[in-house]
Amino acid sequence: MPLLDKQISKQGDLFKSNNDSKNKEIDNLITLKRLLELYQEFWQEDGYENKEQRELYKQKGLKAVNDYWQSYQKNVEPKILFLEKKFSFRIGDDVIKGTIDRVDELSDGTLEIIDYKTGKDKTLDYGVKRQLILYQIFLEEFLNKKVSALSYYYLESGQKVSFVATEKEITKLRLEIIEEIAEIKKRNFSAKPSPLCNFCDFNSICEFRQV
Ligand code: SF4
Repeated sequence: MPLLDKQISKQGDLFKSNNDSKNKEIDNLITLKRLLELYQEFWQEDGYENKEQRELYKQKGLKAVNDYWQSYQKNVEPKILFLEKKFSFRIGDDVIKGTIDRVDELSDGTLEIIDYKTGKDKTLDYGVKRQLILYQIFLEEFLNKKVSALSYYYLESGQKVSFVATEKEITKLRLEIIEEIAEIKKRNFSAKPSPLCNFCDFNSICEFRQV
């Protein structure tokens, strides 16, 4: 896959810790001061119930950005291969598309997939794991790279929760994807209430939600 190889090497160069002018520019970009400026610049005022709620979320965001930066400084500089990596691949006649937040190459050459979460920490059950297992299927099969860690990084608590998918989980997800695509094609959108309703964006208006 020449294009992807080129993309990998381009990203690798970007994050090399040498002193050329490009990397100096990047180092400057990630000072805490600059990070907080970007936060202010991209902050969206809309979508909150009232002023108090907006301020509360803004402060939570500021704390999360600050905490993340502090913890990033303490750790060994990672070798980041991808950020916001868009992907698409075929399963049968259908195409699955998505975006992976971050992929690091670890010291043994294997990959770690990291997904940033802004909500509360979740119990690591199969339903929560599915998203990262899907990314693993893509990276292993289509880039021919071994994935050895799947991680959710919860920005509010600062916790990183990592796991490794079992073969059983990978096979299960493949079968589910095929079944879910078939259901979508049949336009079968019947509600499936479950404990996951607690995390659903539509639970306040959904008459089927499980309480
Ligand atoms: S709240 Fe409704 S839409 Fe959301 S997961 Fe539950 S049943 Fe589905």
